[in-house]
Amino acid sequence: MYSLQKKIIEEGQVLSDTVLKVDSFLNHQIDPEFVMAMGRELADRYAGDGVTKILTVEASGIAVALTTGLALKVPVVFAKKKKAATQDPQAYSTNIFSFTRQEAVDIYVNKKFINSHDRVLVVDDFLAQGEALRGMVEIVEQAGATLVGVGIVIEKVFQGGGQALREKGIRIESLAPIASLAGGRVTFV
Ligand code: 5GP
Repeated sequence: MYSLQKKIIEEGQVLSDTVLKVDSFLNHQIDPEFVMAMGRELADRYAGDGVTKILTVEASGIAVALTTGLALKVPVVFAKKKKAATQDPQAYSTNIFSFTRQEAVDIYVNKKFINSHDRVLVVDDFLAQGEALRGMVEIVEQAGATLVGVGIVIEKVFQGGGQALREKGIRIESLAPIASLAGGRVTFV
């Protein structure tokens, strides 16, 4: 998505060889029109695939998940994070290692919001090592639902998470695939 690449170049800050900050339009301040355009683009890529539900994880995936759900006219569910697992029979849950927090967190979704008839599109802001996605895919599996695919705003391809999941046969659409952040510069694929 050219307009996103342009925005990343103009407004993104490369914090290190592995971390990109986009807090002016996605991760702190949100540009509603722009996030709407990104949601429409992800929705277009999965139009006709019979998506019945969007799944993301709090907090920063929610904005683009919401606009994707708005464009596809389906509900948006966000997995909630908590520090310690208290086994809740009413919830699907799993443990992921958070890239930004560098700690393990449990994520859970109440069973009433995803069931075996659902066709789920997983949406998130970033794809790095793929932990967040792995957790959400696991929740879709626990629900016995069908995973239609994944929609990502920014994929840092060089961190390998996307490749590992694609090798499992999962379809991933990324609006801005980044090949490298080396030298303080964003290089797109
Ligand atoms: P993964 O689980 O794929 O390693 O990391 C994905 C999650 O970590 C995303 O949900 C996102 O919130 C966060 N994340 C990963 N890399 C970055 C980054 O470069 N910048 C920001 N702002 N968040 C990131």
